[in-house]
Amino acid sequence: MKRLHTVLPDWTRVQWTSIENKNKYEPIIASINKAWQHIERMSVVHDIRTSALGIIKISELSSIIDEYAKYGVIVAPLAKEYPSQGYTSSTVPPKQKDPIGVRVVFTKSEKLADEWFRVWNLHASARDREVGILLGYPTCCTKHYAEYTNQQHFVDMTWPVSINGLSVADETLVHIKADTPVESNMLWHWQGVRLVPHIPCSFDCQESMELGKKMAELGRTLGYETEMDWTYDLLSWPVEWSALHGIAEIRTPINKISSRTDMTPHKYSVQKQSHTYPEDGMSGIAYPYNQKKTKVKPITQTKSFLTSLEDT
Ligand SMILES: [Zn+2]
Repeated sequence: MKRLHTVLPDWTRVQWTSIENKNKYEPIIASINKAWQHIERMSVVHDIRTSALGIIKISELSSIIDEYAKYGVIVAPLAKEYPSQGYTSSTVPPKQKDPIGVRVVFTKSEKLADEWFRVWNLHASARDREVGILLGYPTCCTKHYAEYTNQQHFVDMTWPVSINGLSVADETLVHIKADTPVESNMLWHWQGVRLVPHIPCSFDCQESMELGKKMAELGRTLGYETEMDWTYDLLSWPVEWSALHGIAEIRTPINKISSRTDMTPHKYSVQKQSHTYPEDGMSGIAYPYNQKKTKVKPITQTKSFLTSLEDT
């Protein structure tokens, strides 16, 4: 990927393909986000991971500490921060006017909580790698993330993840096979729809797949059957990611996300293929909209054909 040095300020916006889709899917995605936040925290209670990070309001801190104490989990504040306003690809710098949240770590071990304090105060490059290890991310993904963000300074991991393991040095379009594991699909993370808490190293990462399956199973145990079914559905749909001049566009059958990416002079695209397409997804001539199978009547059954027979 040919990249320029300029980096745009961070943003993420969503545009729906129709008002019907907005009304239907906005609440579904919000409920997936809410469920995921709970699943992430509960993954520590159920020993799937040794720690989980979160940002909570200062006013909620004491009640959350009490809630998780029942499970033997410590909620340790690490630093003051802004409450997350959806996905951003970098930490929001503090501004006095905005409401302040607090970054916390959920863990069962006091020793680990102390280790978190040490790691959180390290320089960003050292911190990212250690944070990945403490959060129980697969080693392949932690290494890959550190290489592309800390060493090569990528702001968007989509391209490095998509080309991992492929020989596409000069390519500008990558196809991701339909049968890659749903759990390792990172193309919905701007909308908070995911089955792993990290960015997988590739669309075929088996370790991410294993972790994602455990997280989904926990979600179902916690009563989020519907949210998990929807998550699997959304993550299996065709999606196109493209990058041009620092702007990423992520087209799904139901909406389009615009966000910051690495500044490139040419367009780069990734097309995640799929065996399915939602019935209410948009149809069109460009990917992924051209994946919608429209029912075409045989010409001999059309009204105009039958009328033409009457005339002769
Ligand atoms: Zn991996």
